[in-house]
Amino acid sequence: MTVRLYDSRAQAVVDFVPLTPGKVGMYVCGPTVQSSPHIGHLRSALVYDIWRRWLNYRGFDVTLVRNVTDIDDKVLDNATENELWWALAYRVELEFSSGYSALGILPPTYEPRATASIPQMQEIIGRLIERGHAYSATDDSGDVYFDVQSWPAYGELTRQKADDMVAATDADPRAKRDPRDFALWKGSKPGEPESASWASPWGAGRPGWHIECSAMSSRYLGPAFDIHGGGLDLRFPHHENELAQSTAAGDAFASYWVHNGLVNVNGQKMSKSLGNSIFAAEFLAMAPALVVRYFLGAAHYRSTIDYHDGALLEAEAAVERIESFLTRADRRLEGTRFAGSGVELVPDAFADAMDDDLSVPQALAVLHETVRAANTALDDGDLAAVAQARGAVLAMVEVLGINPLSPSWRAETDAPAHRALASLVDSLLADRSAARAGKDFATADRIRDELAAAGIVIEDGPNGSHWELQ
Ligand SMILES: [Zn+2]
Repeated sequence: MTVRLYDSRAQAVVDFVPLTPGKVGMYVCGPTVQSSPHIGHLRSALVYDIWRRWLNYRGFDVTLVRNVTDIDDKVLDNATENELWWALAYRVELEFSSGYSALGILPPTYEPRATASIPQMQEIIGRLIERGHAYSATDDSGDVYFDVQSWPAYGELTRQKADDMVAATDADPRAKRDPRDFALWKGSKPGEPESASWASPWGAGRPGWHIECSAMSSRYLGPAFDIHGGGLDLRFPHHENELAQSTAAGDAFASYWVHNGLVNVNGQKMSKSLGNSIFAAEFLAMAPALVVRYFLGAAHYRSTIDYHDGALLEAEAAVERIESFLTRADRRLEGTRFAGSGVELVPDAFADAMDDDLSVPQALAVLHETVRAANTALDDGDLAAVAQARGAVLAMVEVLGINPLSPSWRAETDAPAHRALASLVDSLLADRSAARAGKDFATADRIRDELAAAGIVIEDGPNGSHWELQ
């Protein structure tokens, strides 16, 4: 088996060959914590969570680094007198963390904040100046820029010719040798908070956005690492600039570049001006977290997801199909010699799909086909086949992080309202079985009909009656 991935730099699906056998170093651009997360942010983190889970399943020891950009123009812009930039950054960071954890996105191995790696950023800037690829601004601003013309490879990631590239709008172009030169260090300006200013050989200031990721990736993964990931919208200028400054400084940097698609709403890009952004908290209030995870993870990671009203219903039905099979199978196998006997291994077709540039849509097709066939086996009483399918289904849902029986999703069914409902329904079921034992079938049927009218389905089995919400 070989894992293959679409490398954005090569613009082709290629074999993944790690720098060190059995290990993967993966750096993913995390959020700029300036305002609340929207569903595009959740999707991006989820994509790399699934990548990591699959690489783990394939036996790789994965070190995943996802940073937090806690100092940036936008963070400073959104700060107020009552909420200083670092307080804003921390509050928003917590919102991101709780969104990730609600969706079962595993914490990265390391989650560095940009403000904790300022010396590492300055070290790279120093190397770039020494090698002739960066210079101090001519206008006493204290800025330091990357010298695009000194680096002929500039544009290699997005295959743009130098003449077609747009100017970097991060500083007054008059201070630059070339309008495309971008800021590595930004000198402090009057009116900016002192707490957002660090001493440097080029004057007090703060880092540019791009240099943050170059420094944090090499600090935690070394000058050469395997995979660099991020949203498609980060390819230019962010990733192009990361690549240029790291390689110009002498680092080999990432072997592969992976980019995830974005989330549109009703066919349009989410934007502040359109006011159509769906925030993570709103989205998580629309459906159980497991359904949200299924929805955001079901599309191919490189494709655009278009959210529209009703889009979650299909995900909800899919999750219910899987859950209902696993619950039925467990009940049916309980007390038989097949209980817990299925090997938890994904089917070959599932593995082939995941190896092929993480083709989750095809992998899900295998999962649902397995569930369909297993339901037939349940109806036919073929318990050996049921046990085998149960093991395969569990392995598949675990690797995708969508196991409906996992205790991590239980918080919702353990909620007080659900516990109260469970206790009421259990007591009605006890009345019903007492009525049946006393051959009072009229009462037993009435209880069943009343529960059905309330949307509660009863299934009678050899181990008693069970219920679930329709
Ligand atoms: Zn980045």
